[in-house]
Amino acid sequence: MKAHDGMYIDGAWRPAAGTDTITVLNPVDEQPVGQVPAGTAEDVDAAVRAARAALPGWAATPPAERAVLIGALRDRLVARKDEIAETVTAELGAPLAFSEAVHAGVPIVVAGSYAELAAAHAFEETVGNSTVYLEPVGVVGAITPWNYPLHQIVNKVAPALAAGCTVVLKPAEDTPLTAQLFAEAVHDAGVPAGVFNLVTGLGPVAGQALAEHEGVDLVSFTGSTAVGKQIGATAGAAVKRVALELGGKSANVILPSADLAKAVNVGVANVMSNSGQTCSAWTRMLVHADQYDEAVELAAAAAAKYGPRIGPVVNAKQHARVRGYIAKGVEEGARVVAGGPEAPTEKGYFVQPTVFADVTPEMTIAQEEIFGPVVSIIRYTDEDDALRIANGTVYGLAGAVWAADDAEAVAFARRMDTGQVDINGGSFNPLAPFGGYKQSGVGRELGAHGLSEYLQTKSLQF
Ligand code: NAD
Repeated sequence: MKAHDGMYIDGAWRPAAGTDTITVLNPVDEQPVGQVPAGTAEDVDAAVRAARAALPGWAATPPAERAVLIGALRDRLVARKDEIAETVTAELGAPLAFSEAVHAGVPIVVAGSYAELAAAHAFEETVGNSTVYLEPVGVVGAITPWNYPLHQIVNKVAPALAAGCTVVLKPAEDTPLTAQLFAEAVHDAGVPAGVFNLVTGLGPVAGQALAEHEGVDLVSFTGSTAVGKQIGATAGAAVKRVALELGGKSANVILPSADLAKAVNVGVANVMSNSGQTCSAWTRMLVHADQYDEAVELAAAAAAKYGPRIGPVVNAKQHARVRGYIAKGVEEGARVVAGGPEAPTEKGYFVQPTVFADVTPEMTIAQEEIFGPVVSIIRYTDEDDALRIANGTVYGLAGAVWAADDAEAVAFARRMDTGQVDINGGSFNPLAPFGGYKQSGVGRELGAHGLSEYLQTKSLQF
C-alpha cells in the first residue's frame, strides 16, 4: 500500500508545509499501515488558492466534457477496485468481501451516475420571460468521515465536479490512504490541475481551517452532529453555503402484520453491517408488546451468528466509546440478550454484536448515536405509540417500516420525521436523495438532488 508524504494540490503531489504526520493503524491488529502528512492552515490555503484559480476554466467547461472526465474517473475506480477494497480493509478493518462489494463497489455506481447526470442535466431552463442558468456555487470545501471512506468522498466530489465546482477535500484522519488513492484516480482520469485538491490532516486543524477559509464558497460536511453544529455556525457567520450530513438514530418499525422473523433478521443485519458504523443504521427496533418476546429471541439468535466476522470498530477511542455505551445501557436497566461490553479479543478494536431488550425510549442507548454493533429493542402498545417513539429523538436520518402490505407501511412512513425509509426491506438506491430531517443535517446527497446542492441560479429577464 502506497502512502504519499505530500498533499495533492494543483495537479501534483507537493511537500506539506509542516512536518507533523498521522500514522494510520489497522484496527484488526493495531499495527501501522501507513503515514500521511498532518496538514496545516498553510496547506489548506495553498489548496484553496489552487481551487479558486482553476474555477473559471472548469465552470466554463461544457457539462458534456465534464461528464467525460467523471466517466474516466469512474473507470479508474473500476480499474483499481481491488486496491481500493484492500486499502479500506487495512485502515477501516472492514472484512474484505464487504469492502469489495460496498466500499469499492458503491462509489463506482455513484461516480457513474454523475457522469450520466452531468451529460443529461438541464443547466438552463425557461421560466416565463426568464432564462434561468444553474451555475456552479464555486469552491467547495469537502470534509468527510471514515465510516464509508470512499463513498463519502465520491458523494461530494462527483456532483461538485459535475456542477462545475472545484474542490478541496479534507478526509478523515483514520482513513487518509483511501483518499490518496482517490486523488491518484482523479489525476489519472485527466481532471485538470487545481480542480480537485487533497489536504490530509486533523479535524480541528486542517478541517477547521478549510471550513473557515474565506476562499471557500460551500462547506460540505459529513460527520458528527457536534462538529456539524460548529461548521454550520461558522458558515452562517460568513454567509456561506453549507451542506451537513450528520448523525442518526433510526427506527426499524415492525408493525404487527409484518413477517416478524424477516423484519428482525434484516434489522439485525442492517445494524451489524460495517460493525454498526453506518449513520443510517436502524439501531432502534420497535416491536408491538404482543410480539416482543418472540422478537427478542429472534434478534438474540441473529446477533449470536455474527461474532468477530463483522470486523472491528475503527479506533481505540470508538472501541472505548461503544463499549461505554453498552455498559451505560446495563447501568440504566436494559437487559443484554446478546453480546455485552467486554472486548472479545485482546488485540484489535472488536466489539461483540450486542442486543438489548427492555429498552425504554428515554434511555441513553435509545437516544444517542452509538456508532457500533448495538441494537435496542423497544416495546410499543399501538401505532401512535410507535410513531411517538420513532420520532422521539433529535435525529431524523433514516428508518424502516415493515407491514403485511406496502400501503400500510407507506402510511406509517409518511408520518415519520426522517429523510429516507426502507419499506419492507427496500434496497439502497444510489439515485435517491439521501439526507436528514431535524439534527441529522441540512441538504441532500446522491442523484439529481445531490447535484442541486452544488448549483446556484441566475435569472436573466427578456
Ligand atoms: P467527526 O465529526 O469526528 O469527523 C468528521 C470529519 O470532520 C473528519 O474529517 C474530521 O477530521 C473532521 N473534523 C473534526 N473536527 C473538526 C472541526 N472542528 N472542524 C472541521 N472539521 C472537523 O465524525 P466521525 O467520527 O469521523 O464520523 C462519524 C459520524 O459521521 C457519525 O456521527 C455519523 O453518523 C456521521 N455520518 C453521517 C452521515 C450522513 O450522511 N448523514 C454519513 C456518514 C457518517
